[in-house]
Amino acid sequence: MGNLVYPNLCAVCEQKLAQQDLPMCLSCQFKLPKTDFHKEKENEFTERFWNRIPLENGAAIFYYRKAGLTAQLIHQFKYHNKRKIGSQLGEYYGGILASTPSFQEIDLIIPVPLHRDKERKRGYNQSAIFGSGLSSQMGIPMLKDCLRRTIFTKTQTRKGTLDRLENVENIFEVATPEQIEGKHILLIDDVMTTGATLEACAIPILQLPGSKVSMVTMAIAID
Ligand SMILES: [Zn+2]
Repeated sequence: MGNLVYPNLCAVCEQKLAQQDLPMCLSCQFKLPKTDFHKEKENEFTERFWNRIPLENGAAIFYYRKAGLTAQLIHQFKYHNKRKIGSQLGEYYGGILASTPSFQEIDLIIPVPLHRDKERKRGYNQSAIFGSGLSSQMGIPMLKDCLRRTIFTKTQTRKGTLDRLENVENIFEVATPEQIEGKHILLIDDVMTTGATLEACAIPILQLPGSKVSMVTMAIAID
């Protein structure tokens, strides 16, 4: 297993790690740009959804800039098979959200689904790994397969691509509406850029009677 050497090194600067509960060293923890969005009901995250969809709460742990420290951290997580980074960040933020008043009324955690081909290639859905950490600390169950993709968008990660598709609202569908109806759903993704993917996930959920949506991501892109 390639992961054997990992727990001893900081995922950002690759110095030896003294502690094991977070993937980065104390110095990198201090330097990573935290948003503290959970402290404010209206913030830069929720603002991105104004005039698009009703959002109960929105938060990201870190700001994300190209070639910045957060980008390094998330790159290690997504492309170097270091799942532990995602689950540890989920546990870290889940611990914070568990005592944040605005996040007390969530019923279910749902990760943004990866296309099956992509998940097979990578071996895991990074949003579900992050979501499982949040789930364990918040004491809220995670449902993985109730939301599914209806079409495959090859360049989906490229900024703005989804916005150009005509039927953004039809990219995802709820496979098991009876599990979601009337529930407050916490949608999970890795990095929020335009928010188009999260919005496309929220739309079919919000069409069910009494359903509400909040969102949490590891990072929010700013440029
Ligand atoms: Zn470090």
